[in-house]
Amino acid sequence: MKINLIQGDITKINTDAIVNAANSSLLGGGGVDGAIHRAGGKAILDECVAIRNKQGGCNTGEAVITTAGNLTAKFVLHTVGPVWNGDKEEKKKLLANCYFNSLALAESKKLTSVAFPNISTGIYHFPKDKAAAIAINTAVDFIKANKHTTIEEIIFVCFDEENYNFYLNQMPVVVTLYRPVNQAELNLIEETGWEKFPPRLPDQPIFYPVTNEAYANQISKEWNVPAYGVGYVVAFDLSANFLSKYTIENVGGEIHNEYWIPAEELEEMNENILGTIRLINTFK
Ligand code: ADP
Repeated sequence: MKINLIQGDITKINTDAIVNAANSSLLGGGGVDGAIHRAGGKAILDECVAIRNKQGGCNTGEAVITTAGNLTAKFVLHTVGPVWNGDKEEKKKLLANCYFNSLALAESKKLTSVAFPNISTGIYHFPKDKAAAIAINTAVDFIKANKHTTIEEIIFVCFDEENYNFYLNQMPVVVTLYRPVNQAELNLIEETGWEKFPPRLPDQPIFYPVTNEAYANQISKEWNVPAYGVGYVVAFDLSANFLSKYTIENVGGEIHNEYWIPAEELEEMNENILGTIRLINTFK
């Protein structure tokens, strides 16, 4: 699962779906909405009119889907951002809903990639720094809540440099860690649907993920294979924000770097895994 940032024109993006910052009428408007309808052609508007006739437009924070007409994307997810006035806390919640509901709709259609513009930051005047934080945090929340999502890539497409810089400063950093595991631990990981590491046993107060594949391979080959006949190495992606609470421990050679996660904090670590745990190597 990747979260990408680019500066550009969303009508040129080649994802399964691009998101439109629509208005509740679904009948098109200015800004990115106008650009999408101009580039996509009449098919998009015809479908929007059909949805409007059926359900009477789209509420703020909700999303609807149409095909993408002449665009290179396959679908357009039309979501209605909040106007920045009145109850600001309510507006923040509604903007988060735009991102979450668009991703949920993409997921329900089994789409693999979604591109977002900076919803509400044009004529709806949502402060760009706050909007960037909401967009990024909501995407991360979605990924954490849907570990087996069909969505492999989320792209934030910033039209203007100001938005681009706000995103750049707030993009989440993800760290890949490795762990040698034996058959028993691998089976328990598999039982969780590749989502979690199993709780430690009473005599295992610390969980040791390592920072590089070579070190994990070495442990697997030198310890697991002689002891059990087979050794595995799994990889997983963790939010750098979570990991920054811990210091990296060097336990000898140049590549022997690992983290020491106390057993009672393992469940919190599991909740900060983005995507699933992947079996990457098997040694016999
Ligand atoms: P809203 O009404 O939700 O504020 P706007 O379309 O006015 O929607 O603005 C939303 C954001 O879309 C703004 O940051 C604007 O710069 C950006 N934008 C405008 N045209 C494009 C485009 N072709 N591709 C990507 N983003 C765009």
